[in-house]
Amino acid sequence: MRLVSRRAVLSIRSFKFARRGLCSNSGSNLPDSDCDQFVKEPLKKHELNSNVPQYDIAIVGGGMVGMALACSLASAPLTSMLSVAIIDSNPALLNTDCLGGEGPPDPRVSTVTPATISFYKGMGAWQHVQQQRHAFFDKMQVWDYTGLGYTRYNARDVGIEVLGCVVENKVLHRSLVSCIQNTEFNKRIYSAKLSSMTLNSSSSFNMSTGTASQPCGSSARLDLSNGDSLYAKLVVGADGSKSHVRECAGIETAGWKYSQSAIICTVEHAEMNRMAWQRFLPNGPIALLPIGDNFSNIVWTMDPKESLERQSASESDFVKMVNSALDQGYGPRPEPQVFGGPNLFSSLRPADAPSSADESFEVPPKIIKLASARMLFPLSLMHAKRYASKRVVLIGDAAHTVHPLAGQGVNMGFADAIALSKAIAEGVAVGSDIGEVSVLQRYESERKPANIAMMAVLDGFQKAYSVDFMPVNLLRAGAFQAAHYISPLKQNIISFASGEHKPLPLLFT
Ligand SMILES: Cc1cc2nc3c(=O)[nH]c(=O)nc-3n(C[C@H](O)[C@H](O)[C@H](O)COP(=O)(O)OP(=O)(O)OC[C@H]3O[C@@H](n4cnc5c(N)ncnc54)[C@H](O)[C@@H]3O)c2cc1C
Repeated sequence: MRLVSRRAVLSIRSFKFARRGLCSNSGSNLPDSDCDQFVKEPLKKHELNSNVPQYDIAIVGGGMVGMALACSLASAPLTSMLSVAIIDSNPALLNTDCLGGEGPPDPRVSTVTPATISFYKGMGAWQHVQQQRHAFFDKMQVWDYTGLGYTRYNARDVGIEVLGCVVENKVLHRSLVSCIQNTEFNKRIYSAKLSSMTLNSSSSFNMSTGTASQPCGSSARLDLSNGDSLYAKLVVGADGSKSHVRECAGIETAGWKYSQSAIICTVEHAEMNRMAWQRFLPNGPIALLPIGDNFSNIVWTMDPKESLERQSASESDFVKMVNSALDQGYGPRPEPQVFGGPNLFSSLRPADAPSSADESFEVPPKIIKLASARMLFPLSLMHAKRYASKRVVLIGDAAHTVHPLAGQGVNMGFADAIALSKAIAEGVAVGSDIGEVSVLQRYESERKPANIAMMAVLDGFQKAYSVDFMPVNLLRAGAFQAAHYISPLKQNIISFASGEHKPLPLLFT
């Protein structure tokens, strides 16, 4: 192991640069964009500068996914010796104070899967989450407004303790920042935005000063909004759905806007909510997620015009709307026998059916108060056509954005971070240049099929639940019933949603 590590260090230190315009390279098929301006102008200034610091990796975007990659690199022996620049103007990156948890929770939360929790634990970041507000849940109920069926999921169905945990995004983020601050990792945080990115071919590495000077290899050059510049062997675009890195690298995307927006907010109940609830309405789903104490988070998807009206409705009217959307608005509560006779799937139910098949429909807890501002998000699906090109790789929302109906977006991003840090470690182990496409393609070939599968499932859900037509309603009711009573199907759905990524059967709810 020591030999491999020494070889890796040597390979890192012999890091060389080549000079070539990255954006101008791909610029011919780029639309007129900020990126075009970024690239043409700053070259002269930087060609003259001989004291630009250089790093093995520059992570552009220190959001949840970018910081997760940094922590993952810091926590693995082969990658912990790499030098890493993290570029983001978000002041939260410089603050490691524990979030107090006083007052209502922030409306921006994520439901994290057991796979993500294991990832956080492996890096030593979960202990920081545990010191702050979070809410595990082991049960979930999903139904729709037609009253034709419902499904209940229970962690015990697959022999696990929890289905997931709802955590404020700022807690997930702060935990990663605290985790990385506690390591010896060779990193520097640049409190700035990426302005331009250029592939350079003329610089060399001064080992004593850690700066680049004469021509001898290849790297990307990054120029930042605060005037700083740096070189990096590998640039990771973790800069969200409007990624500048993606744009500068000329990576195209595919996708579409949903004619839906999501309202998110924190609400208060008279008693503690311990379960996750999701009801599909004609214009989109509403989810009620426990977030600790007597608070829950609402993610309510609807037509954009409707969302503006609901956002500006009075507080008391909005609370009434939410209570109605969660129970009996648009349609009745599900009955145990949906087709007027004994239930088809309950009669087919095997002896080893999961315990949740015995659970009857429950009415979600009433909301008594709105406890935060209502935030609005237009929804879209976006997928980068490539995740990797020479010296550039995309992770998280920079590579893919999905509908929030199953709370999978950041979990997919965390899985990207795991796969990319593994591919980098493998590259380091064999002495490869970590900016080489061959190293990065290992990451892309692991994550792209998994992300496409998840995107197809989520888009399928979105479409299946956007139709109000009796035959389709009956099919959906059948799917709810099947998922409720058929144990292999239910177990598969839970495993898939938990981040295990087993193949999902065609029939799901
Ligand atoms: C309503 C809603 C609910 C959701 N609920 C869930 C859920 O329950 N579970 C789940 O898994 N996912 C959920 N998601 C998805 C999740 O929020 C995203 O997938 C996640 O935030 C993506 O993280 P990221 O770090 O990739 O990108 P971002 O969070 O967008 O972070 C990008 C970072 O890059 C920085 N940046 C941008 N441009 C530059 C630049 N030029 N230079 C330097 N830095 C830059 C930004 O400051 C930011 O810090 C939800 C999304 C929405 C809209």
